[in-house]
Amino acid sequence: MYELQPAVIQCPCCWEQIEILVDCSIDSQEYVEDCSVCCRPIVITAHAWEGELSGVDVRSEDD
Ligand SMILES: [Zn+2]
Repeated sequence: MYELQPAVIQCPCCWEQIEILVDCSIDSQEYVEDCSVCCRPIVITAHAWEGELSGVDVRSEDD
């Protein structure tokens, strides 16, 4: 199953809320996505369970 689900996160750099799409066919993943507001990289850790998004953590790449 390949399913993209939207999630709202808060950018750790500019604190704006942005929407991302998470591939919920992967149980656990970490990837870098540029913030659509400040364009700085955000490290996103996403967890899914049986195709449903169960958790998203974000941190700045500098940490
Ligand atoms: Zn930002």
